[in-house]
Amino acid sequence: MGSTAIVWFRRDLRAHDHPALHRACAEFDRVVCAFVLDEALLDGRYRSPSRTRFMLGCLDALDGELRSRGGGLVVRRGRPERELTALAAEEGARAVLWSADVSPYARSRDARVGEALRTAGVEARPMPGTYVADDVTGPGTQRIFSPSFRAWAAAPRRPVHEAPARIGGPRTGMPEVRVDAGVPEPARAPGEPAARRALDAWLAGPVDGYRRAFETSVLSPYLRWGCVSARECEARAQEHGTPGARAWVRQLAWRDFYAQTLLTHPDNVFHEQQERMRALEYEDRPDRLAAWAEGRTGFPFVDAGMRQLAATGWMHNRARLVAASLLTKELQLDWRLGEAHFARLLLDGEPAQNNGNWQWIASVGTDPAPYFRRMYSPERHQERFDPQGEYVRRWIAELGTPDYPQPIVDRREGRARAKERYGRVIA
Ligand SMILES: Cc1cc2nc3c(=O)[nH]c(=O)nc-3n(C[C@H](O)[C@H](O)[C@H](O)COP(=O)(O)OP(=O)(O)OC[C@H]3O[C@@H](n4cnc5c(N)ncnc54)[C@H](O)[C@@H]3O)c2cc1C
Repeated sequence: MGSTAIVWFRRDLRAHDHPALHRACAEFDRVVCAFVLDEALLDGRYRSPSRTRFMLGCLDALDGELRSRGGGLVVRRGRPERELTALAAEEGARAVLWSADVSPYARSRDARVGEALRTAGVEARPMPGTYVADDVTGPGTQRIFSPSFRAWAAAPRRPVHEAPARIGGPRTGMPEVRVDAGVPEPARAPGEPAARRALDAWLAGPVDGYRRAFETSVLSPYLRWGCVSARECEARAQEHGTPGARAWVRQLAWRDFYAQTLLTHPDNVFHEQQERMRALEYEDRPDRLAAWAEGRTGFPFVDAGMRQLAATGWMHNRARLVAASLLTKELQLDWRLGEAHFARLLLDGEPAQNNGNWQWIASVGTDPAPYFRRMYSPERHQERFDPQGEYVRRWIAELGTPDYPQPIVDRREGRARAKERYGRVIA
């Protein structure tokens, strides 16, 4: 028998442009594609029935992709360090390859897996694949986006790989996983084939209006689960070459930027990145939090977004910004409460992006602009991005009737309170 490697899939659920899979197929005679259902993730701090459902759909699709190439997915349940060492012994594997990740949980898990494998005499090989410019610790480690973006744009890129023609290897099929109800009508169908169709459709036209139109790609759930690679998105958008496509590539840079931020500031998961901001005071108002989460604030642009999130597991970026600004500034609530709500519902929810964006809008993280610049007016946003009111009416059936609530906060008073709170810690 020739040499065998295991490719350990995590949130890179695709066959195209997958450096670890590509390398394993080139270097080894036999490749075992494995996924480990990790209880710590299914039931842990970031538990999300919607996301778990989406992930299971992605795994099913990946199994299909691998089967069409002569193999299939081996799915195990348990602690990755134990399951992968056992699988390596069963299959006689010499190496385990995976796409490296940045969150503190992922890094400590990967360190444990690496240690267990090495003790068992198996090579552990983290590979690029999750980001556009994979060496996120490389040039441009400044803590502000613009200079970081310039370094990012100039940094070298790895090639984009085709999916291997033949993969082979064993298959177990999916074990039964019980999941509570997820979001009622998920924004996207899970899996690599659906993701590739969505990317093709986006680049075939709508991307050209990016920034001018309200429409965005809604590829974030696929990027979150790696159903398409960010590097391939960048390469294809650059080939497309229009101003819209270039503006869109800049958004992909934000994703790398927040990954780099969490990699270099793992404490951000719990604390404000700017130390002085750790003294910020918050109000304890469960009534306000509930109204915000349920889309009953009386600010239509915010409520539309929050209801879109509850119904589909996705929310437009503009609505995320305004809803988060309202929560952290005028409602005086702790950004971690908003972050946790988003983490429970977003199909694209992940620590680096969610935390980075919440800290940015709360003015406690990477944003160099003063806090009052991040107090967004829901009315002005609606006028600018939804002038005909299509978005708000789509999500708020009772808009314009007596059933729709009055604003739960006077924005002028809220802003004045925010000035006091932020002013105190900055002084
Ligand atoms: C409070 C708050 C929380 C957020 N939480 C998340 C999260 O958990 N996961 C997540 O993927 N995004 C998060 N975002 C960023 C952004 O809102 C989404 O990535 C975007 O709305 C996804 O829609 P799209 O795919 O249509 O984006 P497009 O506009 O089509 O952009 C393409 C891709 O670029 C990346 N991108 C765009 N904007 C950002 C950004 N501000 N930060 C990082 N990456 C970006 C995403 O991967 C996105 O899919 C959050 C934003 C805010 C304000």
